Amino acid sequence: MKEHIVIVGSVALDSITTPFGKINRGVGGSSVYSSLAASFFSPVAIIGVVGADFPGGFLAKLNKKGINTDGIKREPGKTFFWRGKYSWDISTAISLDTQLNVFEKFDPSVPEYLRASKHLFLANIDPVLQKKVLKQMKPRKSGGFTALDTMNFWIEHKREKVKEVIKKIDVLLLNDGEARELFEMPNLSRAGKSALGMGPRAVIIKKGEHGALLFTRAAHFSAPSYPLENVVDPTGCGDCFGGGLTGFLAKTDDVSEWNVRKAMIYGSAIASHNAEGFGLEVLKKISIVDVERRFNEFKSIREF
Ligand code: AMP
Repeated sequence: MKEHIVIVGSVALDSITTPFGKINRGVGGSSVYSSLAASFFSPVAIIGVVGADFPGGFLAKLNKKGINTDGIKREPGKTFFWRGKYSWDISTAISLDTQLNVFEKFDPSVPEYLRASKHLFLANIDPVLQKKVLKQMKPRKSGGFTALDTMNFWIEHKREKVKEVIKKIDVLLLNDGEARELFEMPNLSRAGKSALGMGPRAVIIKKGEHGALLFTRAAHFSAPSYPLENVVDPTGCGDCFGGGLTGFLAKTDDVSEWNVRKAMIYGSAIASHNAEGFGLEVLKKISIVDVERRFNEFKSIREF
């Protein structure tokens, strides 16, 4: 049995409105999107919490996809709730309501048998929880990585805590607006350098429908975007990118710059599929064959 990639992040009920339709209290959350994406490559274990209103049976569906949910607690309160809206600028979510609910008092506990896992993805959630999970993991002897994603909500509410965890990780993921906001500078190359100065060996800045940038101390890479014609709901694309990327890195156990480039394309391939349907609709039905097909299309986009 291969080792799990451990993912902590939100498990949510999302109400989403886009110019193409609506979804009311559908299951979402950063750890759900990212674990489904990572599961194309690697066994996954989620750490998180749900409330009494979380649909029974959903965790069993994750289990069927090889996702371990032993680290998900069920508490008496309400599940994390997010209401978001997209206008014609479909790549930018407008957060209308964020209710942390059971996440407010959540004290994560990584099951003992998962603490030796070498691969950790701190997906978007309170940086204090990200740090608690990181602290419970056993020191890695060789290989492996810790990756981290965050969002404007946490940069605005817990900026210093976000910075504290960034100092302890290997791969940082941010979107362009968040990188500008966190480092208080408009130029992304400078923001990328500032992030590298804090410790990570790879910094990836996601630019929504315009691809993603990779900064390492030695190199710079620009991943192309996929020319999607039917974006209906981009919710979770950032998480799919992060999950696909980290799942592939875990599978290959290789965080060399060349492999991170490849992982970025896998992340982009899954994210582009995800945007073609509402909520988890597409992720539930695509297979690794669809992901590989789009990966190869990405390759041909970049050739000249
Ligand atoms: P994204 O990949 O950025 O589109 O992430 C969308 C997911 O992030 C949704 O399913 C939300 O439930 C979740 N989300 C929204 N706000 C937060 C937050 N402050 N912390 C953690 N997760 C969030």
